[in-house]
Amino acid sequence: MKRHLTFLSSDSLQGRKLGTEVPGLDIAADYIRANAKSNGLNPGVENYFQKVSLVSVKPNENNFIEVIDNRGTVRLWSEKLISYGKSSGEIEMQNEGIILLGFATEDSITTDVEGKVVVVSQSTPELFLEKETGWSSRLERPKIEKITKKNPKAIIFVLNPNIKARNSFSMLDRWLNRERYSLKSPAKNNPPVLIVMPEVADALLGGDGKYNKYLTGVAKGKKKIVSVKKRKVNLKFGSNSEPVEAKNIIGVVEGSDPVLKNEYVIFMAHYDHLGVGKDGDVYNGADDNGSGTVTLLEVAEAFTSLEQKPKRSIVFLWVTCEEIGMFGSNYYTDNPVFPLEKTVACINIDMDGRVYEPRDSVWNKSPKKVKDFDGLFTLCNNVWPEIEEISNSNCEKLGLIPDCSLPSKFLRSSDHYHFHKNGIPIINYATGYHADYHKVGDEVSKISFEKMKRVADLCFLVGYEIANRDEIEFDREEN
Ligand SMILES: [Zn+2]
Repeated sequence: MKRHLTFLSSDSLQGRKLGTEVPGLDIAADYIRANAKSNGLNPGVENYFQKVSLVSVKPNENNFIEVIDNRGTVRLWSEKLISYGKSSGEIEMQNEGIILLGFATEDSITTDVEGKVVVVSQSTPELFLEKETGWSSRLERPKIEKITKKNPKAIIFVLNPNIKARNSFSMLDRWLNRERYSLKSPAKNNPPVLIVMPEVADALLGGDGKYNKYLTGVAKGKKKIVSVKKRKVNLKFGSNSEPVEAKNIIGVVEGSDPVLKNEYVIFMAHYDHLGVGKDGDVYNGADDNGSGTVTLLEVAEAFTSLEQKPKRSIVFLWVTCEEIGMFGSNYYTDNPVFPLEKTVACINIDMDGRVYEPRDSVWNKSPKKVKDFDGLFTLCNNVWPEIEEISNSNCEKLGLIPDCSLPSKFLRSSDHYHFHKNGIPIINYATGYHADYHKVGDEVSKISFEKMKRVADLCFLVGYEIANRDEIEFDREEN
């Protein structure tokens, strides 16, 4: 394990991320494949590689929005325009083609907005009156979905006038107008969603402060829906998308039972990390998640060396691009190589190489037992409760103390999420966050290989027991 991890977390791999000068992510994939092969895993897909198609999105320069009155005078011209999605285009619209929907609460999305430019305030009436109105995608996304169903030409979000909109804008600008990646998806005809400063809405309503007044009225239950008069809006927005390819590595040990071999236990770990920092420092990600990557190689070797293979087949899935959006695991569950209905468990490992040090202040919130050398975070969903029993009884055999107290929000914290959401029983093993988490100090020198070995032993025993169970039954309700 040390030999593998020393290579995978060396500077020469440049932090295993897309887009680095040396293609370290691809080198890591080649390395994992070569070792999966020499460990005796059969290819789960042709040549072990499942292609993961992504797009990289870069914002365009020269985006703008302008508001012109009916005499042709430009009332506002601004480059402060953020595109929330991937689309590009130019829009021209005037008068009643532009419609203000207040905060787009349930009862204000009743009007006909087909083909119109819809102007919506971020946040809710309550938060607006309390002047607590930072941007929250959790609040805005459902609005976007509801308005989109009514086929508007565009949705323009206005930042609230009574907060420091300028700070809010630059934060969103940095976040959304960076180079980003997403899974390649079939082109949808969704309307563009844009974010602008409150001045734009003032210009549409005819003067400074008018938007604030309008929103205050809306929040206090007055008129919500307003069409614009004597104003025209022009805007240009967009981004450049380019296809990028990444890959998952998939190996398999075929089960020994003629029937049950068509069911699968999946071991998973992401092998990507954070790349190179602006100052040229390499994020080596020895623990995150070189440790899980290497643990899987070890577990694979244990299974291939068995003379009598377990009844069910065991799949080893090294997924890509977790750090930038869990794309590899998402792609796999969207395009499963082995049917999800036949997948009985997914055991994910994300960071299993550290033991507590006093400088890991982040652990102070952790339950005491995980700080012990024997402690291990064990996260299960409740699709098939027996999985936790199997895990716990094998922990006992090895002298490990499982901590199953992580709150359910951790079901979204790593790749296991995409299996969880498909109603598959999951376990996630981790030795926990530490002072070097997502820092350049996440180096191989700080790894406890003894701990990793114990987690590998546990993975083997748990996988073996699940794969040999006579019958596994549970309800595959999607989450
Ligand atoms: Zn990770």
